[in-house]
Amino acid sequence: MGVDKKGFFGDFGGAFIPEMLFPNVEELQKNYLGIINSSQFIKELSVLLRDYAGRPSPLYFASRLSNHYKTRIFLKREDLNHTGSHKINNTLGQILLAKKLGKTRIIAETGAGQHGVATATVCALFGLECVVFMGEKDMKRQKPNVERMKMLGAKVIAATCGSKTLKDATNEAIRDWISNPGNTYYLIGSVVGPHPYPDMVAKFQSVISKEIKQQLKEKTGNENPDYVLACVGGGSNAMGAFYHFIDKPKSKKKKKVNLIGVEAAGKGINSGFSAATTALGTEGIIHGSKTILMQNSDGQITEPHSISAGLDYPGIGPQHAHLFKTKRAIYPSVTDNEALKAAFLLAKLEGIIPALESAHALAYLEKLYAKEKETVVVCLSGRGDKDMETFLAMMDK
Ligand SMILES: *Cc1c(COP(=O)(O)O)cnc(C)c1O
Repeated sequence: MGVDKKGFFGDFGGAFIPEMLFPNVEELQKNYLGIINSSQFIKELSVLLRDYAGRPSPLYFASRLSNHYKTRIFLKREDLNHTGSHKINNTLGQILLAKKLGKTRIIAETGAGQHGVATATVCALFGLECVVFMGEKDMKRQKPNVERMKMLGAKVIAATCGSKTLKDATNEAIRDWISNPGNTYYLIGSVVGPHPYPDMVAKFQSVISKEIKQQLKEKTGNENPDYVLACVGGGSNAMGAFYHFIDKPKSKKKKKVNLIGVEAAGKGINSGFSAATTALGTEGIIHGSKTILMQNSDGQITEPHSISAGLDYPGIGPQHAHLFKTKRAIYPSVTDNEALKAAFLLAKLEGIIPALESAHALAYLEKLYAKEKETVVVCLSGRGDKDMETFLAMMDK
């Protein structure tokens, strides 16, 4: 299943970058495995994950939700991590790598601001300069996160080109990286971008499925669930939740785990306001890798739409494109309204307000029809505080 030497997962991945970026990307390609697999790095990262991020995150048996759907549902509580989502797993890993490479300045792109906040957090922790690029439109939509980044000491720069959203912020970050190759590290927030980012971010997020296995074994006697569900924006929480379940069990007695990545259908797949990449996309290149993305026949990127800013991305990580094409995982989608309904259901039944992104994974439980004895793990990627305005608007209706 792993990545090959050129950074491909089957037909997807690679590093399609301007020549000016070769030195930066090559430096990473040559060094990342040696550094992140060293015993010193593993030790330092595991201490940070435990004492700073609060891992392991609980695997919670949701009994009232299970009764409701007549199956056994466990929630992987990434919402309980420091900064409120899975993003901290990746930023801690990459900041440690940046430090080992001797970098002193960190740049990042952010859409909803969650990755920006997680990056500003770890830069404060390590005392490194932090510059976050964010679309001008997103800065207005996600003001509290802009304020958090500033309080943490980061400089937030508005991307004023194009649609003034995530893809424009990414272009600005790449431009900055080209101009500052020596001291600057580009900290990417999902399993996207040129090789080695998709593989590296997946490895940092794989702690999610590593813990699920141990925790499920303790709770049920079996480390493999029947289903793993996670929402997919770029695909980092999903890849982390899938990672240790992708290879089929060697013993014939054990069943393979069904992997389900839930995409955002927005107002409906064919409404013109959707972010359901695998349903609507075709093969192409975005942000340095070959993958599946939403584009018109001229190769112009189609503007995505989702009620949740974290899923509002026109592509998916190359490894997901590979899992989709080879049918190892499926990628259905749910609409804005279905996700909202699922968020309210979880709040009422379990006393947990999920992020709108995570609510997409929960909404798919309506269509899963799992059997009573089957086990379902849902990755609860983040908490819903940041989405209260959207939830309140729904309650007023
Ligand atoms: C950013 C974010 C996502 C989407 O990103 P992935 O890389 O697809 O995981 C999902 N959930 C939450 C809470 C997020 O902050």
